[in-house]
Amino acid sequence: MEVGDSMNKDQFVTNSAEETEELGKSLATLLEPGNVLTLEGDLGAGKTTFTKGIAKGLGINRTVNSPTFTIVKEYEGRIPLYHMDVYRLENSDEDIGFDEYFNGKGITVIEWASIIEDYLPEDRLDIKIQYNQEDSRVIEFLYTSPHYETIVEKLRS
Ligand code: ADP
Ligand code: MG
Repeated sequence: MEVGDSMNKDQFVTNSAEETEELGKSLATLLEPGNVLTLEGDLGAGKTTFTKGIAKGLGINRTVNSPTFTIVKEYEGRIPLYHMDVYRLENSDEDIGFDEYFNGKGITVIEWASIIEDYLPEDRLDIKIQYNQEDSRVIEFLYTSPHYETIVEKLRS
């Protein structure tokens, strides 16, 4: 974050995995090439579920799973999706060429993004998923730029 930028946020509550997927799908229809999204949340919070929705919204028909063994998986869609799960990079400084993805033509979604904090672009949409109760989750969107502000406002309406 630059000095002077203020962090804005908005939160949504979902009551099932399907609702989380729907929210991801709606979000995807508002995204543009080069957009970067981070996903934080405990194991089982719903990061991959949300990403499956994003993939659907991008017109990707292939099944999206956690890319546990590959760190990045690429999917062809209306806009390509670069799905990263950087959990295995914890305690390593490895740069797998993140900028190629962030500056690429696709949309990057990063699970456990705080692990690669130093490599993340300033302009991005941070998404935090928290357990609420049973099948309910609180999904919070944090952003500083007008670009993501517009997207979250459209998602709200
Ligand atoms: P993560 O990638 O964060 O580890 P997953 O998306 O793989 O989490 O798993 C989330 C699990 O929680 C799934 O089994 C899903 O069915 C379940 N679930 C229950 N309620 C919700 C909800 N509201 N949103 C997302 N997932 C939910
Ligand atoms: Mg996951």
